[in-house]
Amino acid sequence: MFTANVLALAYLAAATLFILGLKGLTHPASARRGNRYAMLGMAVAVLATLFNPAVKNYGFIIAGLIVGGIIGSVVAMRIKMTAMPQLVAALHSFVGLAAVLVAVGTYFMHPRADASLMTELFVGSFIGAVTFTGSLVAFGKLQALLPSKPLLFKGRHLLNAALALAMLGFGIDFVWHHHLVSLLASIVMAASLGVLLVLPIGGADMPVVVSMLNSYSGWAAAATGFTLGNQLLIITGALVGFSGAILSYIMSQAMNRSIISIVLGGFGGHEAGEETAVSTAAGKGIKSASVEDAVFIMSNASKVVIVPGYGMAVAQAQHALKELLETLHHKGIEVKFAIHPVAGRMPGHMNVLLAEADVPYDNVVEMDEINPEFSSTDVALVIGANDVTNPAAKSQKSSPIYGMPILEVNRAKQIFFVKRSMKPGYSGVENLLFSQDNCALIFGDAKTVCEQMATELKAAA
Ligand code: NDP
Repeated sequence: MFTANVLALAYLAAATLFILGLKGLTHPASARRGNRYAMLGMAVAVLATLFNPAVKNYGFIIAGLIVGGIIGSVVAMRIKMTAMPQLVAALHSFVGLAAVLVAVGTYFMHPRADASLMTELFVGSFIGAVTFTGSLVAFGKLQALLPSKPLLFKGRHLLNAALALAMLGFGIDFVWHHHLVSLLASIVMAASLGVLLVLPIGGADMPVVVSMLNSYSGWAAAATGFTLGNQLLIITGALVGFSGAILSYIMSQAMNRSIISIVLGGFGGHEAGEETAVSTAAGKGIKSASVEDAVFIMSNASKVVIVPGYGMAVAQAQHALKELLETLHHKGIEVKFAIHPVAGRMPGHMNVLLAEADVPYDNVVEMDEINPEFSSTDVALVIGANDVTNPAAKSQKSSPIYGMPILEVNRAKQIFFVKRSMKPGYSGVENLLFSQDNCALIFGDAKTVCEQMATELKAAA
């Protein structure tokens, strides 16, 4: 068993490793090292906790480690990278549920404790309950079990405010009078709030919600740390809470959304009935092209910008794109990859895949930097990126994606858009780009099309 001092030192070492881990994650080149630091930190934290003199019985812990470890390993090995956001949402819900269970369990152990512990229990349980149900709804939307379109109804803000007030009222009663029923009522109110805050959020805005729930799960963990008197849980929870909040802020800026509206739910949404058919025009006059057409135009171009999206991830087309990049370079054509902050299904998704295919960082350009270049681009080659290129975000006030900055491929001289069908992207909104004169669709799987392009380009050399 560790003494209190050894335990404190081990926790300090773990917290330092977590901070080094976060630092490493700030750049793709150092991300692997960052992950290793964080894993080492977690190993130190788990071992130190196991040797904590407060642990009296190892039976439940070992059973939990075996069952949880097996389930976690199988899920982690099987999960596709494109399904990562729903896995993350599900994991956040566990943190929230754990916070609620710890709070209720602690109440049963100390039903006559002072007001400060009761306040901790109330705060931990309500943040946990909001995180739990909010994350479940986010999981449902990301897994397509619930509609990704915003579910809006009149008076929802009023209902949310009433629920928040009622929750606070029950919380105060619990802190002063220690009534279990008040604690449970406040948990029910918070759980309902979690559902109502995430339901009105549309598909395209889910990345911000997932990162916000990440932040909430950190606060729930920190609150649990106070309840259990565990400093490492407080530090780790605060790290997750703050880094999630900062990421949410950065993403909300990138999506042109207000962070306050995210916290209050239903941002960027319009009342039902306000929504009009975004574009029936997209169904008219759409041109399609063959790989040969695209290769002919590209081989005569001086600048090509490739825009990868979720479709590239599904098709795992990154290696074929790297080959295409090299072939175009070989012909003296300037090539850049344009990255939208929410392309794909998780923050940094495109950067990770392009890094995996060894696409040089110098060729990868972020949205703000590349947008002014589209007007001087000969060919914009869009590979399974739909929402992030949709001009409806700029021109259709009634669209759920209105206000979201896009990659302005519409300004390129020619657009080739690779996708398999006429289905819309994640937000369910039709892409106005398709009806533009300078846009032609190449129907097919992204990997196959990119491989064919590289082969034909080489043959044309
Ligand atoms: P979209 O989901 O808008 O579009 C993806 C496109 O890829 C679809 O039009 C689809 O068309 C096409 N596609 C799918 N599979 C293939 C394939 N094998 N070959 C070729 N094309 C394929 O993706 P974007 O990257 O443009 O936008 C991401 C969306 O996801 C945004 O709305 C964003 O807000 C949301 N989101 C992002 C998260 C993040 O953190 N990055 C997290 C959660 C949601 P078709 O089926 O016809 O082939």
